[in-house]
Order: sequence, then structure tokens, then C-alpha cells
Amino acid sequence: MILILLGAPGSGKGTQAQVLCKKYTIPQISTGDMLRAAKKAGTLDPKYLAIMDAGGLVPDEAVIGLIDRRIDESDAAPGFLLDGFPRTVPQAEALGQLLANRNRKIDRVIQLDVPRAMIEERTIYRRTDKRSGQIYHLKYNPPPSDAELDHRADDQPEAVNKRLDAYEAMTAALLPYYEKMGLLRRVEGVGKPEEVTQRVFAALDIQAAK
Ligand code: AMP
Repeated sequence: MILILLGAPGSGKGTQAQVLCKKYTIPQISTGDMLRAAKKAGTLDPKYLAIMDAGGLVPDEAVIGLIDRRIDESDAAPGFLLDGFPRTVPQAEALGQLLANRNRKIDRVIQLDVPRAMIEERTIYRRTDKRSGQIYHLKYNPPPSDAELDHRADDQPEAVNKRLDAYEAMTAALLPYYEKMGLLRRVEGVGKPEEVTQRVFAALDIQAAK
């Protein structure tokens, strides 16, 4: 099962990705996580670091290279879920080529639709527990008192707005690209995480997990 999960930053993409990966026993491949890991390890090119912290997009060839290597790892043999990649049509084209070279193909592209005003609020209050990776919302899904909270640099209001602008510009081309291929399903991303999960499963034509 090869899935692409599309959704603006703060659309609930990370939460749904975790559920889907568990359901299919596939890894979540997130270029954002891979870039942040490289940043933490001190191996990220400083020019990419500046772009990331400002909420811009790193060059296509950088993320395509990461994906090219990652999908050959053994855990990706049964499939994988892409989160945060592709973000541009050239990335989508490169992905198609990488998969074709391996006789593989995308099964479905899911777009989580959430109104922009709601996303702004979600990201500004979003916190991650550094130890577990669990995502919380200070108002609607408060973390336990012993959580070690992290507020991502790119979740600050100015960077959020820049990322949302970039996301909207990106999907303007990416959604029609996958729609034409018949792979795209749009899912309403508003509501409780479990409700959204039911809709995602319906879009994948699978029965909800009990
Ligand atoms: P994310 O966690 O997916 O929002 O990614 C965090 C940041 O990493 C983005 O704001 C970009 O700077 C960079 N990034 C992640 N994935 C990509 C991608 N597919 N193309 C370009 N830049 C990316």
C-alpha cells in the first residue's frame, strides 16, 4: 500500500498518518521529519536550515534524494505513507519515476481539507512531547503535566502563515495533477480525529478498525 497524505500544516495529517501506518503496518515517510532529524544531527546543509526555519521549501532535488534512498529500506517493502512529500509537481513527477523504476505505484492520494482559519489556530497551539512524539493542542487536547513540550520554530504565527501560503500555492498544481490520474480523494478534515479517520478509511474503501 503506497499512500500520499496531503494536507496543510496543522490539518491533522500527522495524526491520521499514525493511524494509517498502524493499520497497514507501513512506515510513515515524512521529509519534514527527515530534515528535522538531519538538523538535529548537525548534518543539514546550513542553507536548507535557513529555508526551513523561515517556512520556505527546500530545493526539490534535496527531498527527492532523501525519498530515493528511504523507499529502498526494508521496512518500506510492504508499502509506505508519504507525509509532506511531494509538495511540487516536479517532486510528484520524480516520485512517479522512482516508483516506476521499481515496478511500484501509488495506490491513493488523500487530501485533508480544513479551513485556513482553523489551521492557524491549530498550529499556534500545537505542541509535541519531545520524548514520545505525541502531538497535543493546548486548548483541545492538552498534554499531561509531565510532558516535555516542544513548539516547533515553524509553528510560530509568521512562519505558519508563510507555510500556508506555500501550501496553497503548491496544491493549486498538485491536486489537479493527482486528480487527472484518478488517484485523489478529498476528505473533510474538520471534527474529532476519530471521525476524520472514519472518512479516510471510507476514502480508501476499507472497513474501519474495531
Ligand atoms: P513539514 O514538517 O512537512 O511541514 O516540513 C517542515 C519543513 O521542511 C518545510 O516547511 C520545508 O521547509 C521542509 N520540507 C519538508 N518536506 C519538503 C518537501 N517535500 N519539499 C520542500 N521542502 C520540504
